[in-house]
Amino acid sequence: MSLVVMKFGGTSVEDPAAIGRTAAIVAGRVALGKQPVVVVSAMAKVTDQLLRAAAAASTGDRTAALEISSRLRARHRETASELVRNPADCAALIDFIDQRFDSLDEVLRGLAAILELTPRISDLIASFGERTSSRIVAAAFRERSIDAVHVDAREVIITDSQFQKAVPQDALIEARAAEKLRPLTLQGQVPVMGGFIASNEAGITTTLGRGGSDFTGALVGGALSAEAIEIWTDVDGIMTADPRVCSDALRVKLISFEEAAELAYFGAKVLHPATILPAVKKNIPVLVLNSRNAGCEGTRITSLAPHCSSPFKSIAVKKKLSIIDVVASRMLMTHGYLREVFAIFDKHKCPVDMVSTSEVSVSLSVDSNEKLSAIAADLGQLADVKYEGKKALICLVGEDIRGQNGIAAQVFTAVRHINVRMISQGASEINMSFMIDEDDADEAVRSLHAAFFKEPDPAVFDVEARKAASSC
Ligand code: ADP
Ligand code: ASP
Ligand code: MG
Repeated sequence: MSLVVMKFGGTSVEDPAAIGRTAAIVAGRVALGKQPVVVVSAMAKVTDQLLRAAAAASTGDRTAALEISSRLRARHRETASELVRNPADCAALIDFIDQRFDSLDEVLRGLAAILELTPRISDLIASFGERTSSRIVAAAFRERSIDAVHVDAREVIITDSQFQKAVPQDALIEARAAEKLRPLTLQGQVPVMGGFIASNEAGITTTLGRGGSDFTGALVGGALSAEAIEIWTDVDGIMTADPRVCSDALRVKLISFEEAAELAYFGAKVLHPATILPAVKKNIPVLVLNSRNAGCEGTRITSLAPHCSSPFKSIAVKKKLSIIDVVASRMLMTHGYLREVFAIFDKHKCPVDMVSTSEVSVSLSVDSNEKLSAIAADLGQLADVKYEGKKALICLVGEDIRGQNGIAAQVFTAVRHINVRMISQGASEINMSFMIDEDDADEAVRSLHAAFFKEPDPAVFDVEARKAASSC
């Protein structure tokens, strides 16, 4: 039977109505003879609130932390009792939720006494979202006659011990998937597990980083050699720009793995940056679909995208970046200098997004973070250093820019009213990116969208939806 991994994001499990829609989508796949394995996120905004509770507790504000926990407990209890009508099943589920939140409260009280939030405790606290949502979803599925079995994702997704961004151990995951998931699917049961959460080999809870449930979906799909990986979210697929920024964004019908990976890395929140890799390794198609509009065919991510007459497929934006300028008039061209600069970023485990050099300076863009002042202090040993926050990287992605002349001129004409700081065209030749002030980012996206998606190629973009919208 063809196995399909279905990952549902926070908005697809945000309340009883959303979980009901999700159950109907999964039941529909079963009716088509498919064998689903389901991965769910925490209910929408729950991870943010858990991390807020952790932050409050770590500053000694025990009351605020416990208040957040109590609101979350009530939300999960209400959702459970609305979805699960069978009295015995409902009582067992509510009991489970209470036990989870009792233990969360214990952790928060301890944290408020110790006043130190370590990455390990942060992961433990964040894990409560997916641990609880996945139980509720599994029970709701059973109530709707889906033969669902809850599986604790921490017994399947094994990582190293880099808390908050743990690295999956592929061979171990494959063995665990064979042991914990395969027997269920062979019996036609539907495993339901939380995304994002994992554990190290010692069984200590880790997480895959924010937005990591997509990654779990792809890891499970890769480990089980699924026929397809479906990422169910709250938009019709990968769009030509974030629809929250650009209201006339179009659905991209087909996109290559390489383009999708580039978009995700450069801030298109619709997919976690690392999602594509496990799928690419096994050549498994990834589909991005809308749980609020299940009839829409979504976006299909495949190894090769068809030729497209538009140079770009989509525009991504990555905000909250900083630019670091390292100025050393005598040393820049000396042997080993850039290596020393990068060694400092490496030492602080700080990835660099973009680099540009001039005769006397090198400018680098990084995520704004608390490590910046320490990085700047280390760089200060080599050269003069300045850094500036509130920057955004705009990234246009498309395989069809390869070899086309005049594209850069069109890009910078479209944003001629905006001050551009750094420019780069990746060696992959499928992206063109530049850095601007964060406040100009939305305007830049709209201007570029208007310039490049005036006459979109109907083979690749859903132009019908635009026509339908303009005729009503
Ligand atoms: P989920 O909770 O399902 O994982 P996310 O919030 O992580 O959903 O991602 C979906 C959101 O990504 C959309 O609501 C949309 O605002 C945003 N987004 C950003 N860029 C794009 C894009 N190019 N195409 C589609 N959605 C995008
Ligand atoms: N719940 C996690 C987060 O909000 C993971 C996810 O939703 O993908 O980051
Ligand atoms: Mg997401």
